[in-house]
Amino acid sequence: MPYVVGNAIEGYCVECKQDTVHTVLDIEGLLIRLVRCEKCRTEGPLKTPRSKTKAGLREVAAKRRTAPPRRRRRKAEDPAQIFRKLLVGKEVGRAKKYNPKADLEIGKVIKHPSFGIGVVVSMNEPQKASIAFEDGTRVLVCDRK
Ligand SMILES: [Zn+2]
Repeated sequence: MPYVVGNAIEGYCVECKQDTVHTVLDIEGLLIRLVRCEKCRTEGPLKTPRSKTKAGLREVAAKRRTAPPRRRRRKAEDPAQIFRKLLVGKEVGRAKKYNPKADLEIGKVIKHPSFGIGVVVSMNEPQKASIAFEDGTRVLVCDRK
């Protein structure tokens, strides 16, 4: 999949010391040259997400060995991980500022003044949208006339 400037991509942030959502800032050919962490706003080269490197996989494998058997298997996915998956391919650079009057739709990316970048995951009630943020999903008001 060719990358586009402004799109979101998962990467490891040395400042946050974790995998975070990054916005692609510069591309040369098929290579991503510069990205910005959406959590701490640090710009730099893209680093392979920890979840995909050999060291990261070893960590995961070690954790799996020490994790108590059963029970934990059904544990829900980490909200940050779900969030990053939702954002892949989305144009974070063009995210609209969250506004309670705005008409939202599923899949739309918004930027909230305190929660940051979010993706609309469902619209299950009138004037209310469930929006996934890095730290979890929140229900926010929308389309308020
Ligand atoms: Zn960061």
